[in-house]
Amino acid sequence: MLKPNTHYAELKDSYLFFNISQKVKAYLDANPDKRVLRLGIGDVSLPLCPAVIEALHEAVDDQADKSTFHGYMPECGAPFLRETIAAHYGNRGVTLAADEVFVSSGASDELGDILDLFSPENTSLIFEPAYPAYVDANVMGGRKIIHLPSGKENGFLPKPNESVQADLIYICSPNNPTGAVFTKELLTEWVDFANRTGAVILFDAAYEAFIEDDNLPRSIFEIDGARTCAIEICSLSKTAGFTGTRLGYTVIPKELERGDMNLNAMWVRNRTTKTNGVSYILQKGASAVFTEEGQAQIKANIAIYKQNAKTIMHALDQHGIWYCGGTNAPYIWLKCPNNMDSWGFFDFLLNEAQIVGTPGSGFGQCGEGYFRFSTFGSPEDTKEAAQRMLKLL
Ligand code: PLP
Repeated sequence: MLKPNTHYAELKDSYLFFNISQKVKAYLDANPDKRVLRLGIGDVSLPLCPAVIEALHEAVDDQADKSTFHGYMPECGAPFLRETIAAHYGNRGVTLAADEVFVSSGASDELGDILDLFSPENTSLIFEPAYPAYVDANVMGGRKIIHLPSGKENGFLPKPNESVQADLIYICSPNNPTGAVFTKELLTEWVDFANRTGAVILFDAAYEAFIEDDNLPRSIFEIDGARTCAIEICSLSKTAGFTGTRLGYTVIPKELERGDMNLNAMWVRNRTTKTNGVSYILQKGASAVFTEEGQAQIKANIAIYKQNAKTIMHALDQHGIWYCGGTNAPYIWLKCPNNMDSWGFFDFLLNEAQIVGTPGSGFGQCGEGYFRFSTFGSPEDTKEAAQRMLKLL
């Protein structure tokens, strides 16, 4: 008799975004004349930059001509894009071989799929609060999870704890939801810890492009020793507005081995079995992100989101509200004023100022009493939300 994967029954229903949309709908049904400002979303609002659009159009035309047509693409990524991404790392002082870069359809896909490399008997260490997909992918795979709490006292940047025995360690920097960024020193502590214990770090760098402080690491491979203990998962979603276009990349160094197994070679085997590559058109479009022109254009878009962050931070500063993130990250994580709990503050902001954010408790217990603002909305809405907050709080 067929047995389903019963671990799915252990998943907690995620009501976070459903509850938010239900509450907003109920509010608008009762107050149809009000304009709600949405600062909750983690999706981008600016379109793809012109360099990418041009490359995508050219790639479509290539597919119309027998001499430039592409069929199946190499499973691990087109050599032109793998080389381009490796060179991009090289410009930042990180040496990678092109075949250490794997082109993917996005970070979410990879965060789930990469667990194929590890035994279900492994234990995963997940910092709290956390991006919910880490927990759910591990529950589905039947892995034991240890939650490592973090809070205001350590700036939401936990240190390794020698008493914790884990095989996989998730680090997201810049962090979703807290916007906190690991320093080189702290990341070195985690790398040393992983090398000492044999753990592997899954480093989620989906927001690296938002780091403006040159002293902060944008890649874990800026840290000595990371090549023997880390995998980096990256995405063009937030870097270049690819949330609906879909392209990411994963870096697995050739030195990364556990037991007698080489993880880079295992991933080649995995990809050549489980995918037929990312579309030629998207890989061509993505390669334009890494040109001089593309870099300037995506930076101009990121600058607009960063201005949104400044607008929100200014309003919070006026009221002396504690927050982290915002400067090197697209999220601002704040302590709810007047000791309100996360949903209490959500209701207060929605009812009194028609502003929607994300309650911190949706990212784990340590998020209770906190709130996340996203800076991916329109500058007009963000400015108006800041003005409403200034009046309200
Ligand atoms: N990792 C983090 C921390 C995210 O916040 C997100 C999306 O919001 C992702 C990964 C997923 O990115 P992608 O769009 O590449 O699947």
